[in-house]
Amino acid sequence: MKDIYPMGGKFLRIFKILAAISGFSIALLCISGYSANINKNINIEISPSLKVKQGETVVIDIETEKPLKNPVYFFKGKKYKIYKKGENSYKALLGISAIEKTGIHYLLIRDKESKLEKQFNLTVAKSKFPIQNIRISGKKSSLSADNRELGLIANAKKTLSSKAYWNDVPFDSPTKGCLISKYGLLRYHNGKPTGNYHKGIDIKAPSGQVINTVAKGTVLLAERFRLHGNTVVIDHGQGLISLYIHMKNTHVKQGDVVTANQKIGEVGTTGFSTGPHLHFGLYINGTPIDPVKYWLKHIIPCK
Ligand SMILES: [Zn+2]
Repeated sequence: MKDIYPMGGKFLRIFKILAAISGFSIALLCISGYSANINKNINIEISPSLKVKQGETVVIDIETEKPLKNPVYFFKGKKYKIYKKGENSYKALLGISAIEKTGIHYLLIRDKESKLEKQFNLTVAKSKFPIQNIRISGKKSSLSADNRELGLIANAKKTLSSKAYWNDVPFDSPTKGCLISKYGLLRYHNGKPTGNYHKGIDIKAPSGQVINTVAKGTVLLAERFRLHGNTVVIDHGQGLISLYIHMKNTHVKQGDVVTANQKIGEVGTTGFSTGPHLHFGLYINGTPIDPVKYWLKHIIPCK
C-alpha cells in the first residue's frame, strides 16, 4: 500500500478564473510569476505506507513539475536532506529503529523556495522482538571495546555523502548461509538483560565462506578491532551504510571503491563471537534498521 499526496495549484486556478473574468493582463503576469516559482503539482509518495513497524525503512519519493531548491524532511525534531534523483524527482530514506516510540510521529517535508510544506502523520507500530540469551565464558564476557574502536565505528555509521551508489533493491545476501539471529533481538548475557538489542542480522556460514558487498560504495573502515573483530564499513551514499563484522579476514582497505557483489573478505569468528558467522548491519542516517525488510533478498532461517 502506498500513500500518495497530490498537491494541486488551487490559487493558480483562482487567478486564472479572475484573469478570465477581468481581462487584466496584470493578473496574467501574476500567474506567470507565481507559476515560475511554485509547482502546480507535487506528488509525494511515502512507502511502504504511513503505518510502519519498528525496524522498518520508510522511502520518501517526490515528483515535481519544476525543480526544488533544497528539499528536506524533519523527523523527531531533526532535519534530513532529500536528495535529487532525476530531472524533477527527489528521494530520501528514513530509518525507524527497533526501539522507536510507538504511536504517531510527525513527518514534515519542506522546500522553502517553492513554498512546499506538507506534514504527514507517520504511525509506528510495535514489532515483536524475542529475547536472545547468550551464554558466554568468563574470558569472552570480559571482552570489551576501547573508545577508539567505538568512536571510529560510530562515526562511520553516521557518514552522509550526496551521491547514491545503490538503486537495485533488494540486494543479494552478503554471504551464502542461513539466518541464525534476527534484527531487533533483545540481548541477554547469561540470563541478564544487557539493555542492548541486535542491530543487524547474523548469517551462519562456514569459516572461509566468501563475503561480498551488497552494493557499490566507498570503504570507510577496514580494520581489526577487539570487540567487532575484522570489520568493514561501506558508504553507499545518501545516508545508507553497510557493516560487516567478525570476519576471518578483510580484502579491502579504507578509501577503496567497491562494486556490488565484490569480495571484501571471508566469514570468521573474530572479536566477540561464539562461532563462525557474519554480522551484517544496515544504517540509515546512523539508525540501525532491519536489513531483511526491504533491503535484502530472502535468507532462509537456520533449522
Ligand atoms: Zn550479530
